Amino acid sequence: MQVSVVLFTADLRVHDHPPLRAALAAAEQVVPLFVRDRAIAAAGFAAPNREAFLRDCLTDLDAELRARGGRLVVRSGDVVAQTCRVAAQAGAGEVHVAAGVSDYAQRREERLRAALERDGRRLRVHDAVLTAVPPGAVTPSGGRDHFAVFTPYFRAWSRQSLRDPLPAPRAVRVPDGLDSAPIPAADRVRGRSPGLAAGGERAGRRRLTNWRRSGLAAYATGHDDLPGDATSRLSPHLHFGTLSPIELIARARSAGGAGAEDFVRQLCWRDFHHQVLAARPRCAREDYRPRDDHWRDADTAGEEIAAWRAGRTGYPVVDAAMRQLAYEGWMHNRGRLLAASFLTKTLYVDWRIGARHFLDLLVDGDVANNQLNWQWVAGTGTDTRPGRVLNPVRQGRRFDPDGRYVRRWLPELAGLTGPAVHAPWTRPAAERARYDYPEPIVDLAAGRERFQRGRGGGGSGG
Ligand code: FAD
Repeated sequence: MQVSVVLFTADLRVHDHPPLRAALAAAEQVVPLFVRDRAIAAAGFAAPNREAFLRDCLTDLDAELRARGGRLVVRSGDVVAQTCRVAAQAGAGEVHVAAGVSDYAQRREERLRAALERDGRRLRVHDAVLTAVPPGAVTPSGGRDHFAVFTPYFRAWSRQSLRDPLPAPRAVRVPDGLDSAPIPAADRVRGRSPGLAAGGERAGRRRLTNWRRSGLAAYATGHDDLPGDATSRLSPHLHFGTLSPIELIARARSAGGAGAEDFVRQLCWRDFHHQVLAARPRCAREDYRPRDDHWRDADTAGEEIAAWRAGRTGYPVVDAAMRQLAYEGWMHNRGRLLAASFLTKTLYVDWRIGARHFLDLLVDGDVANNQLNWQWVAGTGTDTRPGRVLNPVRQGRRFDPDGRYVRRWLPELAGLTGPAVHAPWTRPAAERARYDYPEPIVDLAAGRERFQRGRGGGGSGG
């Protein structure tokens, strides 16, 4: 009897899952395996919001497999040792896994291959599972191993022909006798954010179907509208792989229209950051383009960092975004840009401090997208205008013109309307005394000057 193991990592789904399909095609029985990897917890990456979402994903994956006659086998410990053990217990000849991107995932793959080969087994690694176009599949001319600028990458990426999405398998036969750690009940794994979305493939597919029907067409005009909340909110599903990027692209393209084109372009941003990280794994920690910055940190800007984290900077749109992050474990992209620009440019604080805080809370917190977007905003990454500084008052008036987003997240400003919502300090002192809201912690012009001095000149407005 031929047996294969499918090691699930950031691909917790049964639809469009090449490793699962390949294993089922080659073997009569398959072990769908998830290992709770203790190295991820040890690295401080198992944040409570993502742990709660992961729990939902595992419960759902198990249910989807059971509906097809199978089940999920869950183990915990060292991912390589556990996978080898399960492969030996099941008498499996092959282990299938999706190709990873980060430094850690690349090393995991190497260790796993070596350990399996020592036991006479084979590792089969599948591309285009976690991303639509595999990192390294398109490269610029001149021998460089990755694209450093988005627009040419987008052009090359758009010319790639993608495979058709694969259907979910009808039946999955799992060998008897393999023990599995229980998936904890929902009340045992609580996220930190009270408004956290539910995880799992079925929740993701429902969200996709509804959003494609009622949100996609308006995406082109609405994606920056802060109160409109008109983006897909599919990022946690992409992070955990409960939805496949190839399927999302196919479904968006089949709907057509400007909204679909813009949405596919955003999915390309995701692949873009993944190909940068795959080629330069160290830029999860180090500047992609060092600018000789003299960042401020917890010792030199401790109080300002604390105010930023708490959503008490005195700049309403930044504070609203930070409160959304705390409450939902998710933040609108425009909010992320403003909150990150405020920290790294206006306060001139090291991007790593902001990225860490986001990773502690974001349910979609992702090494490639988070670290490289932070670097993009900080001007140490791939932005072709690294000196730009976003002005939170102007940006607030542009993307939240009547202040609905601010009032939603800052109830203490509920009485403010009109342009004053984004500059409460312009109201008379007697009125301000009625709001429990801080004065600005920094003057925008002084912040910009400090950044330009630290960076050696060259900032521009936005
Ligand atoms: P939509 O607008 O509906 O876009 C669809 C999908 O495209 C997203 O789900 C996402 O997978 C991808 N996408 C959109 N914008 C970007 C982008 N700029 N870079 C890469 N992929 C993108 N995204 C994460 O998934 N994880 C993170 O940890 C993360 N951290 C960020 C930190 C900062 C400072 C900034 C500025 C952006 C960050 N982003 C991150 C990118 C982006 O903000 C989110 O992907 C997006 O807000 C998710 O909402 P959505 O699913 O409704 O997006």
